Amino acid sequence: MSLLELEDVHSYYGASHILRGVSLEIGEGEIVTLLGRNGAGKTTTVRSIAGADPPEVRSGTVRFDGADVTDWPADDITMNGIGIVPEERRLFAELSVEENLQLSRITRGWWNTVRRSVRGGEESTMGLEELYELFPRLEERREQKAGTLSGGEQQMLSIARTLRLPDLKLLMLDEPTEGLAPQIVRSVSEAIEEIVDRGLTILLIEQNVHESLKLADRGYVLDQGEIVYEGTVSQLKDEDLDEYLVV
Ligand code: ATP
Repeated sequence: MSLLELEDVHSYYGASHILRGVSLEIGEGEIVTLLGRNGAGKTTTVRSIAGADPPEVRSGTVRFDGADVTDWPADDITMNGIGIVPEERRLFAELSVEENLQLSRITRGWWNTVRRSVRGGEESTMGLEELYELFPRLEERREQKAGTLSGGEQQMLSIARTLRLPDLKLLMLDEPTEGLAPQIVRSVSEAIEEIVDRGLTILLIEQNVHESLKLADRGYVLDQGEIVYEGTVSQLKDEDLDEYLVV
């Protein structure tokens, strides 16, 4: 059974019809990549899955872990095990790395999640020590202000923070390697692989085809709000998809 399944999803920003019948599925433990140019609708897909508002999903279904979550509020979807690492990293620049990791669970928007997780006695998906094992650079910089970290370190912190959510099953990463130096791209990629080894499932949004095809099992190509191609990584590599991708 798929962990996540979208069936014929149509999403709108006001009168703008952006997703035009997106269907995709992700099995447990898979890394699936969603590729496409600027404006293809990748972020809109992630936001539609996460119950974010906007956009509005006007028809179609999003199923996660056996439940129809199409109309669920974002907090409930988060509590059900879906975390997003957004493109803009939303860190607390004036706080240290460790404070960011501790505070992320009690800030606005996370408050309901915390309240319910405290009530339910749930633990974070990963504790601080485990996160530092995954990202040794963050441990070296645990006292440093987040605003003074390099772009790559900030990305690691943003991923680590999402791994603090309780009972996470699906992690959606929106262009995690955009603008990073090649060496840092490699560290972020290695961490993503390790996260999957620990039992999580990944939806990886990318414009950078080369990096995401190294990591993923399968991929979908989105163009103007429609899936124009899907296949295994080796099938995607063999296709001439340049018109839809940044290569
Ligand atoms: P990018 O790489 O630029 O993030 P993307 O594939 O993620 O691209 P989306 O951000 O999903 O693309 O945008 C898809 C379309 O929806 C674009 O035409 C964009 O202008 C439009 N759009 C995105 N957000 C909004 C919004 N809040 N209100 C209105 N239109 C929006």
